[in-house]
Amino acid sequence: MTSNERVVVIGTGLAGVRLARRLGELGTPASLIGEEEHRPYNRVLLAEVLAGRYSPEVIALPAPAELRRGRVTGIDRAERTVTCADGSVIAYDRLVLATGSNPVLPPLRGLFTEDHQLPEGVHAFRTMDDCLGLSKAVRPGVKAVVIGGGLLGVSA
Ligand SMILES: Cc1cc2nc3c(=O)[nH]c(=O)nc-3n(C[C@H](O)[C@H](O)[C@H](O)COP(=O)(O)OP(=O)(O)OC[C@H]3O[C@@H](n4cnc5c(N)ncnc54)[C@H](O)[C@@H]3O)c2cc1C
Repeated sequence: MTSNERVVVIGTGLAGVRLARRLGELGTPASLIGEEEHRPYNRVLLAEVLAGRYSPEVIALPAPAELRRGRVTGIDRAERTVTCADGSVIAYDRLVLATGSNPVLPPLRGLFTEDHQLPEGVHAFRTMDDCLGLSKAVRPGVKAVVIGGGLLGVSA
């Protein structure tokens, strides 16, 4: 990779942010594109935010200078461009997909609304938005049921 190549990294999780920062240090600044509204953060520490031990600012990641907010909706490999939901088109020489994963939502009857969304009062636990939504919903006197007894379920 040379310093005048345009590198575009999709995904502002730990992987995307660390890669973009490292490329910047090596003299190849990368454009980082992420769909989440929040400043990039360390997802691994979300349970601490949910527990009230850390504020969201504490788990923010130092982001590289070239950070764009938006959801990438298309890639044109022939033209070497990506398109974002707002219609903007970004050219690249090298493209990195650091788009992580989605929570597995079990196919339980009654879990989803007709348009396949989670109904009010049901939350996944994956993003800062999930975490803030859960923090708001859970207060003394509210009964919560956690489905999933792995690391995240137990810590939640
Ligand atoms: C509460 C919690 C605790 C965890 N603890 C651990 C742990 O202790 N150890 C461990 O190894 N793992 C842990 N994990 C798993 C953790 O998610 C991953 O290890 C880590 O976050 C993966 O980082 P990533 O950058 O690959 O992906 P992600 O963190 O998933 O980041 C991907 C980003 O890409 C964005 N994105 C996706 N598609 C698009 C698109 N089309 N356009 C723009 N942006 C897009 C997503 O919105 C997201 O912000 C934990 C997960 C959670 C939720």
